[in-house]
Amino acid sequence: MNQEKNIPYKIYLEESEMPTAWYNMRADMKVKPAPLLNPGTLQPMTFEELTGVFCDDLVRQELDDDTAFVEIPKEIRDFYKMYRPSPLVRAYCLEEKLQTPAKIYYKFEGNNTSGSHKLNSAIAQAYYAKKQGLKGVTTETGAGQWGTALSMACAYLGLDCKVYMVKVSYEQKPFRREVMRTYGASVTPSPSETTNVGRKILAEHPGTTGSLGCAISEAVEVATTNEGYRYVLGSVLNQVLLHQSVIGLETKAAMDKYGIVPDIIIGCAGGGSNLGGLIAPFMGQKLRGEKDYRIVAVEPASCPSFTRGKFAYDFCDTGMICPLAKMYTLGSGFIPSPNHAGGLRFHGMSTILSQLYHDGYMEATSVEQTSVFEAAEQFARVEGILPAPESAHAIRVAIDEALKCKETGEEKTILFGLTGTGYFDLVAYEKFHNGEMTDYIPTDEDLAKGFAGIPKVDK
Ligand SMILES: *Cc1c(COP(=O)(O)O)cnc(C)c1O
Repeated sequence: MNQEKNIPYKIYLEESEMPTAWYNMRADMKVKPAPLLNPGTLQPMTFEELTGVFCDDLVRQELDDDTAFVEIPKEIRDFYKMYRPSPLVRAYCLEEKLQTPAKIYYKFEGNNTSGSHKLNSAIAQAYYAKKQGLKGVTTETGAGQWGTALSMACAYLGLDCKVYMVKVSYEQKPFRREVMRTYGASVTPSPSETTNVGRKILAEHPGTTGSLGCAISEAVEVATTNEGYRYVLGSVLNQVLLHQSVIGLETKAAMDKYGIVPDIIIGCAGGGSNLGGLIAPFMGQKLRGEKDYRIVAVEPASCPSFTRGKFAYDFCDTGMICPLAKMYTLGSGFIPSPNHAGGLRFHGMSTILSQLYHDGYMEATSVEQTSVFEAAEQFARVEGILPAPESAHAIRVAIDEALKCKETGEEKTILFGLTGTGYFDLVAYEKFHNGEMTDYIPTDEDLAKGFAGIPKVDK
């Protein structure tokens, strides 16, 4: 490994250099993300309406388009200290393997027991629920990382945690489920017979393997029909991007310390929270016209919200009980093919990132899952970390960009988000190793079915 003199292999911030406030990109956006709409009246959701579903302080954060910096409460900063700062790693070994003149950095968020960046927002949301004196929270989880992170945060603060887990994951990832139960959460496979919306979905689609959209509907129903409960969501919402800005703020502080400036910033995009967090301070500079960066969102070719979706008001859930969000969407009825293994299954996308993409501040690309697992394996063999399949989407594009630099001889600086580890995804790795993994790309007809369910909202 040929290490540059002044750049450590891993850059960690000192405790005194850690961010004390989250950064809200919306404050610097000229065109603000469109508001959530009440699905009945098509009017913007009010504070009062939203507080029936979400905690009060989180609703304030959700609706606040103007405050640039929001102080991180001391209790949350203390929790962050257990696993933050996360390392910013110079991928010297990967560079050497690729024989690229590019400089590759990754911010590694898998360094906590939950195994992903989701803990950054889970602790914040659990904290505000506790502060409000609630008994507990409900949520959905897909691959299980969010449920794991939330159950850890709830255990820490003594809150009850009810998780609706997409049925296909519940069955394929029993170990994830047991981690959540270890932290005291109750875990129900979704769709289930325990809610009205679950029973309705089961009646209409017997044998369905579920989707995030179904699980969201169930979790919201349980929160709104049980005293002392609120619903929390692990991605997509403005408040989640706000909390995840800690990733980007740490990254930028570490880079500034060593005079490193990224040319390209790459992140995988499911609902957009890790990418929104990683790019936050960089996008802020871009929005204020201070600096330019190339920012790339990477999504699976099997669930291509940005690259093939429509920018429209749509439901966030299959049961159509949640507010409407204006976003790049495949339609709330879109369910990715069951042989899609790599996470990032949500049909929509953060409204903030959707607006930024629409306004040309970032790019998006899609990758096929076998090429994602090839990149994951290549990365694991040289950098040691076994990446989450979601994270490997970003690795794929980072490697491709580094290989382009090899052709052109450009010494670009590439930064990507390594959102988590893949130890609970070994069934997918097994499929890949056995040559049983296929690439399913939805046809235009498949997508048209999802688009048909997007409500006609003239806004
Ligand atoms: C949830 C998750 C993602 C995708 O969610 P975003 O909100 O788009 O960040 C990516 N990587 C890992 C490891 C995850 O757990």
